[in-house]
Amino acid sequence: MDHYLILDIGGTKTTAAVFTENGEPVKDLFLVVPSKTYEGCDAVFENTVAAGRRVLKETGIDIKEVKGIGTAAPGPLDHETGVIINVPLMGWKDFPLGPELQREFGVPVRLDNDGNLGALAEQRLGVAKGARSVVYMTVSTGCGGGIVLNGDVYRGFTGSAGELGHTTLDMNGIPCNCGSNGCLELYASGTAMNKRMRRDIEKGIRSKAFDDIGYDKEKVSGKILGKAAGEGDGYALSFLREEGRYLGTGLAGFFNLLDPEVFVLGGGITHLRKWFYDEMIRTIERCAVSPVSPDRIRFSELNDKVVVYGAYCLIKEFLKG
Ligand SMILES: [Zn+2]
Repeated sequence: MDHYLILDIGGTKTTAAVFTENGEPVKDLFLVVPSKTYEGCDAVFENTVAAGRRVLKETGIDIKEVKGIGTAAPGPLDHETGVIINVPLMGWKDFPLGPELQREFGVPVRLDNDGNLGALAEQRLGVAKGARSVVYMTVSTGCGGGIVLNGDVYRGFTGSAGELGHTTLDMNGIPCNCGSNGCLELYASGTAMNKRMRRDIEKGIRSKAFDDIGYDKEKVSGKILGKAAGEGDGYALSFLREEGRYLGTGLAGFFNLLDPEVFVLGGGITHLRKWFYDEMIRTIERCAVSPVSPDRIRFSELNDKVVVYGAYCLIKEFLKG
């Protein structure tokens, strides 16, 4: 049977898997290793190759049985040539990752960024399966995203479409490292939530969420918020309603711009949906120009595997032409 090697190179960890033609991970194995970020271009690349070889060995699949490699990498990148344009975190500048992997393994390689692959996976296999147009956003450390229009990934004129997290919510807001101010991810991401909690501890705000961590600013997390919200803590509940307003404002903008059939929300934030969902839907109802029925807003079930599944779809469809 034909197989595909999948390599998902993230900022902190790299996941390697072997998929069958039918999209099943062989031995259900998702090998996860640290990405060796900051160790430089060669170290990150060699680490990726080693992860690929190891997952082939552990699944018992010979490289001769592998038709191609689907890769997810941080952008900006040129998905046609496989060149990573500039990722300081990895030490990659104009780095031909695709061609280098092809030379190493001797099979065709396709690559794309995780936002685009997330959108592709959700539209092909996930909760948006069958929808013609899909917007996907993952909310964890940051807010990444991707767009599928009329069944294809929409990359835009220069390949930079889908930067959903950098939608401006407040032009006088917090400065963002993209150069703008008040971007969605500065309010809605996990990083932003943690920052707000730390600030609230400094302000002396009392909450069950903070009782649990002894008011230690280093220990704030979405998890403590969820737990406190579950216990009816007023601070946690209002904090998560506010999160719903940020997300809803962003989503209303996406619906106004693209009117996708389905919007998929993924990432760590989905574990807290119970407490932000109603406010998010209310905000969309208020801010979107045309009505958006709530069943068009769905939560990812592929979760932390979504990018790996997207990379499988990418290489499989490329080879099938
Ligand atoms: Zn920004």
